[in-house]
Amino acid sequence: ETSFYFYMSTKVAVVTGSNKGIGLAVVRALCKQFNGDVYVTSRDVGRGEEAVKTLNSEGLKPKFHQLDINDLNSIKNAAAYFKGKYGGVDILINNAGIAFKASDTTPFGVQAEVTLRTNFFATRDVLTHFLPLVKAGGHVVNVSSMLSASGLKQCSPELQQRFRSEDITEDELVALMQRFVDEAKKGEHKQGGWPDMSYAVSKIGVTVLSMIHARRLSKERPKDGILINACCPGWVRTEIAAPGAPKSPDEGAITPVYLALLAPGATEPHGKYVSDKEVQPW
Ligand code: NAP
Repeated sequence: ETSFYFYMSTKVAVVTGSNKGIGLAVVRALCKQFNGDVYVTSRDVGRGEEAVKTLNSEGLKPKFHQLDINDLNSIKNAAAYFKGKYGGVDILINNAGIAFKASDTTPFGVQAEVTLRTNFFATRDVLTHFLPLVKAGGHVVNVSSMLSASGLKQCSPELQQRFRSEDITEDELVALMQRFVDEAKKGEHKQGGWPDMSYAVSKIGVTVLSMIHARRLSKERPKDGILINACCPGWVRTEIAAPGAPKSPDEGAITPVYLALLAPGATEPHGKYVSDKEVQPW
């Protein structure tokens, strides 16, 4: 049963940063609702194995693979593993992310660089290596934030126009995200038309990247029916948010899981920003 052919026909879901928080709750929900193997991935093997044990104690049987999205070799190893064992992936949820606390005194330029490195650049690296592996009928969910939508409104009209345009390329988006980091380091990001919030800018990047990839998939793999969307999980009680947040991690998992499990043959949403299971204006 554990033969090559068994795995090639077994469906597989991969969730980044799933040793705790919303990612762990997404794995929990997928273990219950998805007919296939579900992977906890974590940058730290020990924390990942602990998460698997937690879910085992609930009667669930996720699998584990190491994945540090800031480490290109780790991304390549994981991609090769899923390609070799399953022939690709059916569901990819880019959930891993970081946020500095509001009280953190790290200089703004450093916060900008560190936040963008994980939330935008590393998420993009995962997509670069995993998007070609996504099988026909596959679903990709990028966990963004409502702060991407509010942050967009605080950008200059010129930046807003680019982030909403249908013709922005991945290269242009990458250059804009890098420009934010460079200007933040010089203390010039506000003059540059950016909001004073690195996290929001990083998530603008995640949302716009999802839209760019959706257009590209529709053009380059029109028959494969792959759907890719960005979402906000809501305000969720995890290490990232304050303890007063209204949603539990399991409640935060609802929208990402909804997008991951869109019915076979569904054609939308695709290239959208979604929260509370509804497409939101961008
Ligand atoms: P969390 O409890 O802090 O979980 C974040 C997860 O990401 C952890 O498993 C963390 O692993 C992992 N991670 C961080 N950097 C990583 C890396 N380089 N490689 C692999 N994994 C990495 O926070 P959360 O609230 O569940 O956040 C999950 C996602 O939801 C994030 O993208 C966040 O921006 C987004 N979000 C959260 C809220 C909210 O209210 N909580 C609202 C909007 C959006 P470690 O344990 O190793 O650090």
